[in-house]
Amino acid sequence: MTKVCDEASSQPPSKKRKALDESAETAETETTKTKKAGSCSKQAGSSGVRRTQSRAKLSMLPSLNLDILLEIFSHLFPIDLLHLARTTKALRNLLMRRNTSTVWKYAFTQIQGLPECPSDVSFPAWAHLAFEPVCHNCYTSNVRNISWILRTRLCSRCAKICLEDADIFDAKNNIDKYILKCVPFNDNDCRSDCRRCCLASDRKRFVQELKAHRKDRQKFVEQKMAELAARLDHALLCEDWSKALANERAIALRQIKDNRHNAISEKLLQLGYGKELDFLSDERADDVKHSEYVPFHKHHLVRHPRNLTDKVWDSIKDGLEDYMQKVRAYIERKERKELIWKRRERAALAWNKYRNVECEPESFLPNQIDIWVWDPVRDIIERPSDAEVTKDSFEQVFRGLPSFIESWQRDKITQIVHNATDTMKWISFPGISDLELATCVFTCSNNFFHSLMRCYEDNQSCLMWFPEFVHHQCNTLMQRGYGENDEELQDLDSCELLSVRSETLGFRRRQWSARWLFFDDKASRTVESILTACGMSQSAKVQQLDQEDPRLICLKCSFGAKCDGERCFFVMTWRTAVQHNVKKHFGDRQTNFQRISSLDVEEAKRLETAEQVRRLSVNPNHPQQPVDKSWRCTWCRDCSVEPGALTLVQMQKHQKRRHNRLKESLEESVDYYRAYDRPPPQPYPVKMKPRDPTVNL
Ligand SMILES: [Zn+2]
Ligand SMILES: [Zn+2]
Ligand SMILES: [Zn+2]
Ligand SMILES: [Zn+2]
Repeated sequence: MTKVCDEASSQPPSKKRKALDESAETAETETTKTKKAGSCSKQAGSSGVRRTQSRAKLSMLPSLNLDILLEIFSHLFPIDLLHLARTTKALRNLLMRRNTSTVWKYAFTQIQGLPECPSDVSFPAWAHLAFEPVCHNCYTSNVRNISWILRTRLCSRCAKICLEDADIFDAKNNIDKYILKCVPFNDNDCRSDCRRCCLASDRKRFVQELKAHRKDRQKFVEQKMAELAARLDHALLCEDWSKALANERAIALRQIKDNRHNAISEKLLQLGYGKELDFLSDERADDVKHSEYVPFHKHHLVRHPRNLTDKVWDSIKDGLEDYMQKVRAYIERKERKELIWKRRERAALAWNKYRNVECEPESFLPNQIDIWVWDPVRDIIERPSDAEVTKDSFEQVFRGLPSFIESWQRDKITQIVHNATDTMKWISFPGISDLELATCVFTCSNNFFHSLMRCYEDNQSCLMWFPEFVHHQCNTLMQRGYGENDEELQDLDSCELLSVRSETLGFRRRQWSARWLFFDDKASRTVESILTACGMSQSAKVQQLDQEDPRLICLKCSFGAKCDGERCFFVMTWRTAVQHNVKKHFGDRQTNFQRISSLDVEEAKRLETAEQVRRLSVNPNHPQQPVDKSWRCTWCRDCSVEPGALTLVQMQKHQKRRHNRLKESLEESVDYYRAYDRPPPQPYPVKMKPRDPTVNL
């Protein structure tokens, strides 16, 4: 065999060589002990450390009898021979000599499964390609990808420089067509983008050769194509070999890691960390991720690919114990938290039971979160973990609930009054009773929630009178994941107990707060104007105005013209009139209204009913407007299954289905109650020609 030993001439400078040797020694020394692995033998690895010493001794080697030398060398792996050849000039000369090719050959036979060194590649170059994980262009270490067809390893940077895309060659071009046929092209293994490319150097050499074979070009090309076909077959075999090797290495490495993992677990078990280990392995099975600590199997001391010896254990023991202590503390915190939630659940059950028996369903009541933060209940919930807490424990302190509820209601109403005081511009400081004034109008700034909760019709603004704003949904519901810092408890977002999925998906109950409410000055002035039109006192309560139930026309729309029995007007209820001014006239303070004659009200109401029927007949599939969803279920109140505000028919169905209650046995204010969080449904405005009301006076 005539091997040209050109590898040695292309050897990198010594500084780089050191990097090579170090990189050749991977952490998996155990794997490399097997002869199959070959590339990274222990001897080769340690040579980096003992270089000077070894060289001093090795320098004597060439002076030994050649047969003895060759006998010694024949026990080495190819990579060892390569390293040896780089140590001294004498050894290099010896190992690069043709007559030592049997040593190389023998060395390669020790590598199980590696296809034979191709006849056009020298043994050292073959060893260099197969076993040295370095870039063949810049000698960067840790380049694992081998292109067996291009017979090179390239780092990503050099791949850009050394490779040429197949795209740049034109199959119709005289030279290019031969390049595409005869030069080795790699499909994907050197670069991640899977493009066909060849080595620029291969291409250049081929073009030169092609030019030299001007006379027998056809023969030359055929020969090259045959060579390429053989090279491709060989490359495929090499590919299989390196894949199998990588696989074996991965398995062996896994084994080492598993052994270490198990050995460390055993040690920690002996130190009393059994519970923590179980916990960690459950977390691993459930793929739990959190920021408190890294998972056990990912801990750098655990996953290190080295068998655990006593010496190693001594050096890592403290670090691992610190880690286990951290896990222990975490488990304690977690268990405590779970216990607290269990207790809260019991408190909520006890409260629901109490509320359903003792409280008027219509009344303004705290929800379970407000109960949890009530001191006597909070004290029970936060008792030491070993204390027993049952439903009874809560029922005992519930004797104090009536006075708590009273003070809670006062406190919340005062919050609303403060809100009003902060935002109102024209009424003097209100007291609690002032909240019932018709001129006391609130709005909620959380329009985003309203659209999600669909609590207002498209043409409606959120205008609220007593008691609607007290029961307004934004006071007690919020979107999950938007935890507000005005809540006293943590982690409410993750509590299933607080979900309102049947009512508004993605929402949960919150501790009562009036943070979104503010006084609506413009609406308030509009009411003032309506009261004037009705001849009512400015201190009339909303209930009085509702009882009066006047019908009004907007004088701004008619440019001041009043009812005269001939002119057509839109006639509205007082609430619709406020909505009208806010929407249509942007809450203009100058807008005046006229109340139509009581003689026309009957006709207006008849038209309102007719209007509803007309709209329904025009569009039967459209839900009847406005939908009268005025009722809530007493038994489901504040539970996750609460269906929300329902029509009476829906409520009857719900009671039958969920509570097995027949329609006839249902009682208002017992089984269901008025949904005060909803605006009372208003009839459509109707067109009519009201008479002049002053004439009839
Ligand atoms: Zn490179
Ligand atoms: Zn709101
Ligand atoms: Zn108007
Ligand atoms: Zn119910």
